[in-house]
Amino acid sequence: MAAKNMEELVSLCKRRGFIFQSGELYGGLQGLYDFGPLGVELKNNLKKAWWSSMVYERDDVEGLDASILTKPAVLQHSGHEDTFTDPLVDCKSCKSRWRADRLDSMSCPKCGSKELTKPRPFNLMFKTNLGPVDDGSSFAYLRPETAQQIFTNFKNVVDSTSRSIPFGIAQVGKAFRNEVTPRNFIFRVREFEQMELEFFVHKGSDEKWHEYWVEKRLCWWEQQGVSRSKLKEFVVPSEDLSHYSKKTIDIMYEFPHGLEELEGVANRTDFDLGSHTKNQDSLNIDATIKENTDSVSRLATQDAETKEWSVPYVIEPSAGVERGMLAILNEAYSVEKIDGKKERTVLSLKPHLSPIKAAVIPLKRNNKDIVRVAKEVKEGLQRLGLGRVLLENTGNIGKSYRKHDEVGTPICITIDFETLENKTITVRDRDTMAQTKASVSEAPEILKNILGQG
Ligand code: ATP
Repeated sequence: MAAKNMEELVSLCKRRGFIFQSGELYGGLQGLYDFGPLGVELKNNLKKAWWSSMVYERDDVEGLDASILTKPAVLQHSGHEDTFTDPLVDCKSCKSRWRADRLDSMSCPKCGSKELTKPRPFNLMFKTNLGPVDDGSSFAYLRPETAQQIFTNFKNVVDSTSRSIPFGIAQVGKAFRNEVTPRNFIFRVREFEQMELEFFVHKGSDEKWHEYWVEKRLCWWEQQGVSRSKLKEFVVPSEDLSHYSKKTIDIMYEFPHGLEELEGVANRTDFDLGSHTKNQDSLNIDATIKENTDSVSRLATQDAETKEWSVPYVIEPSAGVERGMLAILNEAYSVEKIDGKKERTVLSLKPHLSPIKAAVIPLKRNNKDIVRVAKEVKEGLQRLGLGRVLLENTGNIGKSYRKHDEVGTPICITIDFETLENKTITVRDRDTMAQTKASVSEAPEILKNILGQG
């Protein structure tokens, strides 16, 4: 199932505390969103799942968390200063601005006028001033992708971990793009998070690794609850490839507003390390790069037998956290008929992504003994370290079930008079709505099993 339209998702996200418009109190700020009590949990869970699959479950990837503020030289040599642009047009009539490549016809989507300026390149990078003097000479960029500091730290990571090719460096963090037309809720925003892996391989094995990573990533999205039938592989036509790419396959998803990119998997060749390395002339670099006389490090690896130095190729799976959340929320959302008449909204999230893993509900909010036992059960489950467990003391079981269906809590545990008498609890399953009796002591095992940790 999926939402009928974006509005349904936007409404649920606001109502239940997943996502709010940033600066709403003062009229909002376009292209920026805040993640509420449940949004932050879902986001953290998604990033954790990515990190586990990329770093912990492999033996050939290291992690990194580099700075957001970036020295201009990095983004000069990466090519971003020259090429990280979108074609911008202005409507001469209503003064609105648009991305020329996203207009269906060359007329203004707002007022219909055909009086548009010629497209001109607009650089998407944000700048900020470093230090107290704002004289234009001491600025830094807010990184437009997390990748570049992975390349500039290549030697640091290799030297400190003794890694050899093939291996990867993974990073999750904020990226900033001054998008001309942010839109479609959290799909295109100006501040977002990326989950990026730069996987360094020998030249010649790059195409095989590229295919490998596309397949890996498709499987991973499926494990996050995104049905394979809604994911499409799109081979980016050569005229649309980024300046660094030999081949890019975009993993597209049927978002509520249409089929669009969820993740890009690019074969970046030896462009990046080749652009940032010193001694470029001695390294047989394949990519077309600009001369670099600023770099102080050789970003290359030496063959153990031939002793020859070469610049690794890079395969990059790069996914957006917000786009991932949107796809996952959309996939999980459904409105079901119960007994042919009543309706319930349910978010069938994979339990590892659910913002709340279990809700513990005392039958009577004012019964001290029931509430005390409920607290004990909650604390016991919380101590397992599997994620957030909530004490839901509203005194209205039906309402609590509906709320937790809507936010994707896999189980609700009710504490009642029987719990006091014979230590039994009622466990209610989100998906089947079945209610089963269990003993208090079984609760940890039940939760662990649901989360695949049993
Ligand atoms: P698009 O063509 O949609 O602008 P892109 O090709 O510029 O995307 P990449 O540079 O490949 O995107 O970035 C990798 C990933 O980062 C994208 O697949 C997407 O998930 C995410 N991403 C990029 N730009 C944004 C944005 N403005 N808002 C939210 N996520 C983004």
